[in-house]
Amino acid sequence: MYHALQNEPTYIDNILISVLKDKIEAIQPKLFLISVPFPGNLYSAFRCAQWVKTNHPEIKISMGGGFPNTELRSLSDKRVFQFFDFITLDDGELPIDLLIQNIREKVPKEMQMYKRTFLLENGEVIYKNDSFRKDYKQADVGTPDYTGLLLDKYISVIEIVNPMHRMWSDGRWNKLTMAHGCYWGKCTFCDISLDYIKVYEPVQARQIVDRIEDLYAKTGQNGFHFVDEAAPPALMREVALEIIRRKLAVTWWTNIRFEKSFTADLCLLLKASGCIAVSGGLEVASDRLLKLIDKGVTVEQVAKVTRNFTEAGIMVHAYLMYGYPTQTVQETVDSLEMVRQLFEAGVLQSGFWHQFAMTAHSPVGMYSERFGVVKETETIGTFANNDINYIDKTGIDHNKFSFGLKKSLFNFMHGICFDYELQDWFDFKIPRTKISANFIEHALKDDDHFNTKPTAKVVWIGGKPSAEFFTKSKKGNTWEMASLTFHDKRESFTVQTNKIEGEWLVSILEKIHISNEKVFSFAEVKADFETVIKWL
Ligand code: SF4
Repeated sequence: MYHALQNEPTYIDNILISVLKDKIEAIQPKLFLISVPFPGNLYSAFRCAQWVKTNHPEIKISMGGGFPNTELRSLSDKRVFQFFDFITLDDGELPIDLLIQNIREKVPKEMQMYKRTFLLENGEVIYKNDSFRKDYKQADVGTPDYTGLLLDKYISVIEIVNPMHRMWSDGRWNKLTMAHGCYWGKCTFCDISLDYIKVYEPVQARQIVDRIEDLYAKTGQNGFHFVDEAAPPALMREVALEIIRRKLAVTWWTNIRFEKSFTADLCLLLKASGCIAVSGGLEVASDRLLKLIDKGVTVEQVAKVTRNFTEAGIMVHAYLMYGYPTQTVQETVDSLEMVRQLFEAGVLQSGFWHQFAMTAHSPVGMYSERFGVVKETETIGTFANNDINYIDKTGIDHNKFSFGLKKSLFNFMHGICFDYELQDWFDFKIPRTKISANFIEHALKDDDHFNTKPTAKVVWIGGKPSAEFFTKSKKGNTWEMASLTFHDKRESFTVQTNKIEGEWLVSILEKIHISNEKVFSFAEVKADFETVIKWL
């Protein structure tokens, strides 16, 4: 890339630089910050930095974001500092605050403090982390500000193959997070040793919804993508309740773990608040490998949870993985069969197969010998260090499954080819699956018993039923009865009870209505019912 940057700027570079030039001349900044979330915008980041260094050497330039956070933690290549003055790692607020302080207050060099910052000193790349100040709390980081972006000029990229990928790039979503980091933080392929996963800090539901209102007011757009690593179910529930209480008309989607707290009821609540889609990792659809990954879910549980979302009208996308260390050919075939059955049962609508990649900050990358793989080299490069080449002791070439897995998924997402033999997707011999043909069907039938915790919260999100009371008589006996009719957007249904129970139901629905501040527990509702029932 260094050599490419010595070449004449390309056609696209020139467009980028002409926009940058106008901005720099209009704003005349003292500090220029470039966020590099992915390798895909690294080159452009360097091009921009190069132009600013050449034409405005007085401006300091700093890089932060997902790419340096994961790849540049062991940076030692001095050439980077021909372009950038600073590279900051992890949460950017405090490191940048300190840079601003140093620049604005012209702090003498020996007094300057830094947080997680690489810079060049006496011709050497050094890492400074000498400030005692603590990082900003998530409650204090504020709402993202899109001021100055031409929000109505973005091009919608409509991808038709994969419904979830289409959502990513078709139209624009305001980005927010419910929590910093991951509340689970255990999956062995994930960067769990890095702050962006390891440091879990949720934001209060009310504050999240304040941020929703703020962004809605500023952008005029009511679509929200929560870019959480895995949004916590209890917080999603509180956010949903708050959205409904404030009567906000928003749509939102996020990333989750398929855990069992996503009950049918919770999914209905999420849908009522505007949740339209979730994505989550099924990874390798094999219970042995899910355990090794420490995902904390089973295939059966994923099937039930995805069913709950689907029935509530929320689209489900699954991240699928193949080639995890020690994964056998049989397990890849069985995993494909599970995925086939999940699509056939209609509980998944979208998915994507990723080949396992070993990264430096995941447990597999850090303790590879425990997972049956050997790193090709222990040498640490001078620039990007994240993806690690390794040798899997199974000796299987997982890459050869790539085409067949993707092709089959493409067809399943279109609701076709469920009856094909798995062998038909590959041009080499594969073993027969060991998964029974109705594994998912059984998992979905085998439902949990009605077993609600006393502390569960009971909330009514429907309207007030219309009630009729009447007397029923049979063979000389008479009963006082109630007929309650409920209406929602799609249907009406009627419940008949005796009069006392009917009256109780009408009154409790009022008490537990979502608009009330007080939320009743299941134990309280049960006790309330029992006091009434004893008069029967
Ligand atoms: S893979 Fe997802 S659920 Fe697992 S630790 Fe990483 S962010 Fe959390």
